[in-house]
Amino acid sequence: MGEGEGGSGGDAGRRGAGFSTRAIHDGDIAPGSVAEQPVSPPVWLTSDYLYEGLEHYADVINERRPGYVYGRYGNPTHTALHRVLASLDGAETAWSFGSGMAAIHTALTSLLRAGDHLVAQRTIYGGTYSLLTKVFPGYGIETSFVRPEPDEVAEAVRPTTKAVLVETLANPTFGVADIAAIGELCAERGVPLVVDNTIATPYLLRPLELRGVTLTAHSTTKYIGGHSDLIGGAVTGSRRRIDPIRRLALDQGTTAGAFEAWLALRGIQTLVLRMERQCATALELARALAAHPKVASVGYSGLPEHPDHARAAALFDGGRFGAMLAVTLRSGYEGWLRACDALRLVRVGSSFGSLRSQVCHPATTSHRQLAAEERAEAGIEDGLLRVAVGGEDASDLVEDVLQALDKA
Ligand SMILES: *Cc1c(COP(=O)(O)O)cnc(C)c1O
Repeated sequence: MGEGEGGSGGDAGRRGAGFSTRAIHDGDIAPGSVAEQPVSPPVWLTSDYLYEGLEHYADVINERRPGYVYGRYGNPTHTALHRVLASLDGAETAWSFGSGMAAIHTALTSLLRAGDHLVAQRTIYGGTYSLLTKVFPGYGIETSFVRPEPDEVAEAVRPTTKAVLVETLANPTFGVADIAAIGELCAERGVPLVVDNTIATPYLLRPLELRGVTLTAHSTTKYIGGHSDLIGGAVTGSRRRIDPIRRLALDQGTTAGAFEAWLALRGIQTLVLRMERQCATALELARALAAHPKVASVGYSGLPEHPDHARAAALFDGGRFGAMLAVTLRSGYEGWLRACDALRLVRVGSSFGSLRSQVCHPATTSHRQLAAEERAEAGIEDGLLRVAVGGEDASDLVEDVLQALDKA
């Protein structure tokens, strides 16, 4: 539908350029679409458009002529966002959504019909778990939950399996899925693989570069936006896969709002700068916590002793392992209750991905949708605290967490 210059996706991106260069330049408004190219892509706050006459409108809506039709179909701000997302993910094209949940819902429902079966990772974002267990059964879609290992996925795949869903870094334990091997398996079995790459971001990994990965989903609310000021989502992939997703987004009305698309576009330009700093600080904090006598375990694949370290080092770029830690205390939840009251800089908060460090207790909040036995199976212990490392000075952050642990 009349997407304007550059279509919805990444064909206009600077394919040869480095990741940072593309993050900064590939979200430009297409050169030539206005006389002087704006440095900051404007936010198109118009829901609809006026045409030269009846034929002009008919030509645009029937895709005989480039142009825009209606806000839900996307506007030039969306086009710019789709182009930069596709460029960073190494995808042909992208579509943006009003939330990460809308992106995941649409990606999965583009692949699944009544009677179909889905294989999903057990340790998964709480909202996604709720979608698969509360909403999908009503659509006639059944889900099997497994550990993200190729043998368990292979065992769960049935003739009716039409999709596999994994998270690169599992929320909230931050184990690393064996995406390369699961991708190989999915390619052999002809089952599409959807990867939720929200926590790793394209800065660490571009799942579509791996054989067998069909779609990448993001909550742009987190690191892509990066400032805790928007709710949004995106899916990237081939034109063949994204076209039906775009049509679903139009019919279901889930396309990103123009302002949220602009915020994501603004945030993505500093993704590299933020992730570099936040990943480095997370490693420093992980090291300090791993050496602390009150700490039972640190879920951070950047630590050489972490069981997923070798896999993570092979998958992720540049010796970076993300900015999220799962920290368990010997004194359990009671210990965290006392320690979190003593935090001065880090705050208890509901999300992550911005420059402010936040902690939360998944068992009582983000993963409350899981029954106690389901949490135990997923490795979400009651003593586990999710630590999202922000952009503060590493020394301030480490000092704050260590002084709080004195009270644990
Ligand atoms: C936050 C999150 C989502 C959901 O995204 P929203 O933008 O909150 O709808 C999905 N997956 C993961 C891994 C997340 O962290």
